[in-house]
Amino acid sequence: MDRTESTWARNAPARYGGVEAGGTKFVCAIGDASLTLLERVEFPTGGPDETLDRTIDFFRSRSGNGGLAALGVGSFGPVDPRPDSPAWGYITTTPKPGWRHTDFAGRLRRALGVPVGFDTDTNAAALGEGTLGAAQGLHTFVYLTIGTGVGGGALVGGKRVHGLLHPEMGHMKLPRAEGDDFEGACPFHGDCLEGMVSGPALHARAGGPPNRLPPDHEIWTHVTHYLAAALVNITCVLSPQRIILGGGVMHQRHLFPRIRRRAQHLLAGYLQSPEIIAHPETFIVPPGLGDNAGVVGSLALARLAAEQAASRAQKHSAERTI
Ligand code: ZN
Repeated sequence: MDRTESTWARNAPARYGGVEAGGTKFVCAIGDASLTLLERVEFPTGGPDETLDRTIDFFRSRSGNGGLAALGVGSFGPVDPRPDSPAWGYITTTPKPGWRHTDFAGRLRRALGVPVGFDTDTNAAALGEGTLGAAQGLHTFVYLTIGTGVGGGALVGGKRVHGLLHPEMGHMKLPRAEGDDFEGACPFHGDCLEGMVSGPALHARAGGPPNRLPPDHEIWTHVTHYLAAALVNITCVLSPQRIILGGGVMHQRHLFPRIRRRAQHLLAGYLQSPEIIAHPETFIVPPGLGDNAGVVGSLALARLAAEQAASRAQKHSAERTI
């Protein structure tokens, strides 16, 4: 690299890479310093080798002048997001064929030579909504996705929740809706939240694509019950300032007012908050970023990883000077 190129690279605006890794599709994106999406591609999720090679090829071909500053990955799980764990960056006990115990983030970091931020797909989506979407300015909020799977990410006091492993809000056990005898579709628990309201569960209930069912179909009454019950539990545990509901099932916009009413009913006036009592439309909301919450969140993870790497380098340099 000659001096001109080197100077250009140093002064080039930061570019971040983001991966929203889903069980059915991968979305790879490039974003600028303000996390504006510059490019977005998606492809079906195959086996781990094929899919990760395709991901690496995409970012290598787009690295260009100055390269990527960092990469962020929001992944289907379960995953290990704990930075001090030997299995950091792994997909762990997934039932998805071939992906169990896959080193995901480490492989991308070695191949691309950049800092990698890694978290669950739902924590990434929550971060995206907090950065540029419907939770801007809030410190404690939840993003729940209802799609092929059901999962929740949370920021509490401005920090993403990990803990023992990470939250698994999609697998909470809920009281059955009256008159609902569907056995449930979760391979682990049967009738947990995911087992009752995920896209595949609704497909099995309806005997076909659920999006064709009219809004007054009984299935939507059941979906309303389970989601409202889940939101009540989440509200009682985490006291979120807002709950964002995303994912393909929530494209059924008629569900929002029904879930708000049902959640109010279940809470029975116990939580005296104006957001719940008078303005539930500000408490239970669709994503501000639409279906891009996850991918914008993965870019936000990349930006955080770049900042952390820069801060570590600065600290290291200061220690050497001393
Ligand atoms: Zn389950």
